[in-house]
Amino acid sequence: MVDPKQPAGRGGNDARLAERVRGIEPSGIRRIFELMATMQDPINLSIGQPHYDPPEELVEAACRAIRAGRNRYTVTQGLPELNARVLDGVERRYGRRPETCLLTAGVSGGLVLTFQCLLNPGDEILLPDPGFVMYRHLATLCGATIRYYDLYPKTPGDRFGLDLAAIEALCSERTKIVFVNSPSNPTGAVLTRAEIEGLCRIANRCGAYVVSDEIYDFFCYVDDYASPVSYADRCIQLAGYSKTYGVPGWRMGYATGPANVLEAMKTLQQFSFVCAPAPFQYALLEAEPHIDLSPRHAEYRHKRDLLTRELHPVYGLRAPEGSFYAFPQLPRPADGRPGDSAAFLQAALDRNLLIVPGKSFSSRDTHFRISFAAEDDLLRRGIAVLNDLARQFA
Ligand code: PMP
Repeated sequence: MVDPKQPAGRGGNDARLAERVRGIEPSGIRRIFELMATMQDPINLSIGQPHYDPPEELVEAACRAIRAGRNRYTVTQGLPELNARVLDGVERRYGRRPETCLLTAGVSGGLVLTFQCLLNPGDEILLPDPGFVMYRHLATLCGATIRYYDLYPKTPGDRFGLDLAAIEALCSERTKIVFVNSPSNPTGAVLTRAEIEGLCRIANRCGAYVVSDEIYDFFCYVDDYASPVSYADRCIQLAGYSKTYGVPGWRMGYATGPANVLEAMKTLQQFSFVCAPAPFQYALLEAEPHIDLSPRHAEYRHKRDLLTRELHPVYGLRAPEGSFYAFPQLPRPADGRPGDSAAFLQAALDRNLLIVPGKSFSSRDTHFRISFAAEDDLLRRGIAVLNDLARQFA
């Protein structure tokens, strides 16, 4: 029972709070931020954003936009020229032009609008396990029922991928959304074209929407990147600028998809976020065509290779195919018992290393997330600590 006279607790056990938020705990990653503030010279490999500053052209364009008075609201869907550019880009890349586009307050804003507009209480959503923390909380806020599909390797050392037969078995006439995130946070996997095509075929058959979080689409280290945009009958694609351009604080993203759903999302945006931040819309409109990010891409591929090459084999790490995360398994003792996640994380912390436990993303606690969005020397220091821990824990 909740005692209304008790002060509000961290988990929100205050009877005056709406029931829908009482079960929501702060994310494990947030706790790591708090911990970091108390540490000296931490080796922080827990970061979910690129280590670089935005390109100078973009910074200059943003300053110019603010000085030029571009500080008022824009239309709800965002500047028409930027909408058109997004749609042109999607069509060029994936061979299909979505009906329409809405600029959102980051991909997070797009996720809120999509879930609110599609999910009724009792509807089912298929989410990846492991997966980004936000999805399950937003689905729960809508009263939806979550069914998880497993991404873990079937045999140690195999890739994180889809079991299409298992996904098909999870689908029913109540399935409203089949959710996909490739490149993935936290696994670093990029789904193959066959996987994306197969998943869309299943969703098409059961009449579900495919909602695709493509925020890491720039950080892809395989030649063939497939998007559900090419294959799904009903696709909401969410992507954005936070990671690509190193501007997560700008809160700029976009959604593309069928006009009827995007129209509902636009109406909801009118009564919530209002519009994506105006000066940054103008900045992107002006500067984007002049930015060459290929050196950044090469830099991140190099970091990915460095980590994959140097990390102790006990972690069973395959080269991540995308994003800037790796999701290795915890070292297991020789007698075959599962790895002790709490002891491992504490030992890392004792050595000033911050990583994120797998249970922040999953029902399992058998892996951990490393972000390689860090300077090379910091990454090397982190790898050295992990390799010491490998010897200690295996
Ligand atoms: N999706 C995934 C998979 C993410 O990792 C993140 C940010 N960590 C987001 C969405 C949210 O991104 P944005 O800054 O655009 O809201």
